[in-house]
Amino acid sequence: MSVNTLLRGLPKVDRLISSIKECVELDNSSYSKLYEIVNEVIAQYRKDILDKKIESFEVLDIQNEVIARLEKKDRYNLKRLINGTGTILHTNLGRAVYSQELISHLEKTLIGYSNLEFNLESGKRGSRYSHIESLIAKVVGTESALVVNNNAAAVLLCLNEFAKGQEVIISRGELVEVGGSFRIPDIMELSGAKLVEVGTTNRTHLEDYTKRITEDTAMLLKVHTSNFFISGFTKSIANKELVALAKEKNLITMEDLGSGVIIDFSKYGLRKEPTILEAVKSGIDLVTFSGDKLLGGPQCGVIVGKKELIDRLKKNQFLRAFRVCKMTLASLEFIFNQYLDEKLVLQKNPTLNRILEAPQEVLKRAEILKSKLEKIGVKSNIIATKAIIGGGSMPDATLDSYGVEIEEISALEIERGFLKLDIPIIGRVQNNRYIIDLKTIWESEYSEIVNSFKELKLNGIKN
Ligand SMILES: *Cc1c(COP(=O)(O)O)cnc(C)c1O
Repeated sequence: MSVNTLLRGLPKVDRLISSIKECVELDNSSYSKLYEIVNEVIAQYRKDILDKKIESFEVLDIQNEVIARLEKKDRYNLKRLINGTGTILHTNLGRAVYSQELISHLEKTLIGYSNLEFNLESGKRGSRYSHIESLIAKVVGTESALVVNNNAAAVLLCLNEFAKGQEVIISRGELVEVGGSFRIPDIMELSGAKLVEVGTTNRTHLEDYTKRITEDTAMLLKVHTSNFFISGFTKSIANKELVALAKEKNLITMEDLGSGVIIDFSKYGLRKEPTILEAVKSGIDLVTFSGDKLLGGPQCGVIVGKKELIDRLKKNQFLRAFRVCKMTLASLEFIFNQYLDEKLVLQKNPTLNRILEAPQEVLKRAEILKSKLEKIGVKSNIIATKAIIGGGSMPDATLDSYGVEIEEISALEIERGFLKLDIPIIGRVQNNRYIIDLKTIWESEYSEIVNSFKELKLNGIKN
C-alpha cells in the first residue's frame, strides 16, 4: 500500500476514542489520559508510516495499542507503595498509616455533605473546631484544644499570638531542627517573636532563665529534642520548676512535644518519652504536637491548653490560613475516639500496634513471606534486623525485627525493578543483598510482593 493510502487509513481521534469507550470501562482519571494516549499512538503510527516502517495495519491494532498503554500508564502520581524499610513513621513514605477502619469511617462521613460548620442543635452556623475540642481535651486531660495543619503551624500560631514583638526564652539545648526544615530560630523569626537563648547545649539551669527575664519577656518555651538524644553530663529544667518561675513572673509557658505521645510506652518496655498528659499536668499552659507521628493519625498539629488561651488563638488571623479540612477533622475524631480505650487503640492503631508488637509476630510474617517466595522459586533467608520508629521520634530506640533477605538476585536489579511497578516496593540494601523488613509489611501485601517478584523474573533478571 502506498504511504498516502496508509495515512488515509489512520482512524480519526474522536472515532477511536468512542470505539475504545465502548470496550473498556474508564474512570474519571483515565478519560483525560485517553485523549493524550490516542494522540500519542496515532502520531507514532503516522511517523512509522512516513518512515516506511509499516506497510499495513488494522485499526484494531491501533485500538489495542491504546488500550494497552492506557492500562499500563500510571493513573495517579500519588500512590500506595509497599514499605519494606522497617521504618514505621517514614517521613518520605507518608508517616503514620491509616487503618481500614479509619478509611471506612471517612467514607461514611465524607461522601456527601456534613455538619462541618453547622450546629445541629441550634440549626445555625457552627464551628469546625467544635467537633473534636472536648474529645481531645478529655483524652489528654486539658481544658481545651485546637487543631491546625501541622505542628509547625501550631508552634508558629502560638508564638505569634502570645509573643509577637516580645521575647521568648529557650534553652540552647533545645534549638532544634526537625526533618522537613522546621527550625526553631526560623519559626520564631517568622512569628515576630524574639528568640533569647540561654544555657549551653548540654546544660541549662533555672537561673539561666531567671537572669534573662525582662519586661519584654512573654514566654518560656520548651522544645522536645525529638530527633536526637544527648547523654552524659546534661541538665535541663523540669517543667514544674519552669512553670513555677513563669507563674511568679506572670509569663506564659509552652512546650513543643513534637511526637504526641499519649500512652506511656515505658510500661511496655520502650524508653520513657514525656507524654502529653504529663506536660499538661505539670502546669504548662500550652502543649503542641503532631498528629501523624506517634499519635498515629492524620497530618495536623494539635494545641492543647487552658481555654482562655485557646480562645485567643481562635481569633488569630493565622488560624484562617492554617485551618484543617473535613478529612483531617474526621480522621482525628476517629483516632482520639480510639484513645478513649487504651487496649483498643494499641490493638487497632497500626502505628502503635507495630511499635509495641512482640518480635515473634514479625518473625511469623517473615516465615510466611519466605515460604511464599520459595513457591515461586525465589530463595531467601530470614535475618534479624533492627527496625526504627522514625518520624523524628525516639531516635535512640530500635525495635527487634526480622527481614527476608533475597538470595541469588542482585540487590540493584531488584531495587530498580521494584521502583517501576504499579505498586512500588521500597526495601533496604545491605551487603549487596535486598532486604524486606517485615516490621512495616501487612498481611495483605504478601501476594503483591510475590507478584512483583514474578514480574521481575518475567522481565528478565540479570544477576
Ligand atoms: C516533628 C516536629 C515538629 C514539626 O511537626 P510537623 O507536624 O511535621 O510540622 C516540630 N517540633 C518538634 C519537636 C517535632 O518533633
